[in-house]
Amino acid sequence: MSDLVYLDYAATTPVDPRVADVMQRHLTQDGIFANPASRSHMLGWQAEQAVESARRQVADLIGADPREIVWTSGATEADNLALIGYMRANRSRGGHLITSKIEHKAVVDTALALEAEGFEVTWLTPGRDGRVTPEQLRDAMRTDTVLVSLMAVNNELGCIHDLAGLAEVAHAGGALFHVDAAQAVGRIPLDVAALGIDLMSLSGHKVYGPKGVGVLYVKRSPDIRLAPLIHGGGHERGMRSGTLPTHQIAGMGEAFALAAREGEADQARILALRDRLLEGLSNLGGIHRNTAVDVSVPNILNLAFEGVDGESLLMALRNIALSTGSACNSASVEPSYVLKGIGVPRPLALASLRFSFGRFTTEADIDRALDALQHALPGLRR
Ligand SMILES: *Cc1c(COP(=O)(O)O)cnc(C)c1O
Repeated sequence: MSDLVYLDYAATTPVDPRVADVMQRHLTQDGIFANPASRSHMLGWQAEQAVESARRQVADLIGADPREIVWTSGATEADNLALIGYMRANRSRGGHLITSKIEHKAVVDTALALEAEGFEVTWLTPGRDGRVTPEQLRDAMRTDTVLVSLMAVNNELGCIHDLAGLAEVAHAGGALFHVDAAQAVGRIPLDVAALGIDLMSLSGHKVYGPKGVGVLYVKRSPDIRLAPLIHGGGHERGMRSGTLPTHQIAGMGEAFALAAREGEADQARILALRDRLLEGLSNLGGIHRNTAVDVSVPNILNLAFEGVDGESLLMALRNIALSTGSACNSASVEPSYVLKGIGVPRPLALASLRFSFGRFTTEADIDRALDALQHALPGLRR
C-alpha cells in the first residue's frame, strides 16, 4: 500500500502519530481508562480531567468557552443535534429552516427528515462559486425562520462562506446561525464570537484526529435550548447522554491543539502543492476548475476533465487515492449533487475528480499524480 498516493484528505485524514500517542495513553490499565463520570475515585477524576483538558483545547481553537462544547460521535451527529434539536425545541416560535442545496448529506438528509416531520425548509441555490450570498439569505428570511444552516467550507469544492455576513442577516431576522465547520477547522481562522456563530459542528477525523468523535459548539445563551436526540445519563448538560469516549476525546483535543499551532503553516505549504498541480496540468488542455480557487481553501481542488468519464479516469489512476463527488456517494453513478447544485453541466460533472491535500502530502506525491494523469488522459480521450 505504500506506493499509493493519498489525495483524499477531505474524505478523512490519517491520525497524526502525536495524536495516536495521546489516545494510546487513555485505553489500557496502566493508562487513564476509567469512566470520566466516576466521581468516587481518583481514576475517574483523572479521566474527567483528560476530557476537560480536551474540551479546552477544542474551545481554544474556535474562540469558545469550554462550557460551550458538547461531545458527539462526529459532525454527522452534531448536525443532527443542531438542526433537529433546535427546530423541535422551538416549534412554537416557527417552523422554518433555511439551508442550501450543496450542504453535506448530514445536513441535507436531516433537513429532509425535518420536512417529513412537518417543518418547512428553504433550499438556497448557491452561485457558480458554491457560495450563498448574504443578500440571497436576506431575501429568503421569513418571520417564522428560526434557524439558518450553512457550511463554512464545502467538502467537494473547498469554497469558503462569508460567515460573518450570513450570521448578521440570520440574526437581523431573529434566527440562529448554525455552521457545519468539519472542513474548515484548522484550515481557516474560526472565531465563533467574532463571526457570530450560534451552533457549530466539528469532526475529529478531518483534522488528523480519530473517527467517531465530534463536537457541537452551543453558544451559552438563555435563548438557545436543544431537545436531545439521545437520552440516558444526562451527560453533556443533558444534550447528549452516553459515557464519554476518553481516548477519542483526548485524541480530538490533541488534534485541535496541533491544528492551532500548525494549521496555518500546513495551509501555506499545501497552497504551493496545489499550485504545483495546477501548473503541471496547464499544458494538458480541456481541464475546467469546479473550485473557484480565489474564494476556496487550498487543500481542496475539484477539476473536470473534458471528454473523459470520471469513473474510468479513477480506474486508470489506480495508484492515486482520489474521489469523484464525495466519498459518501461514490458508489452511485449519478453526478455529484454538489456539482449539479452549482450548475456544472452533467457531462463535466461526470468527468470531475476531487483532489484533496493534507499535512503529509509531499511534492513527490503531486508529481506522481501529475505523471499518472499525463499518461492516462490522452488514451481515455481518444
Ligand atoms: C466529514 C463531514 C461530515 C461528517 O463528519 P463525521 O464526523 O464523519 O460524522 C459532516 N460535514 C462535513 C462538511 C464533512 O466534511
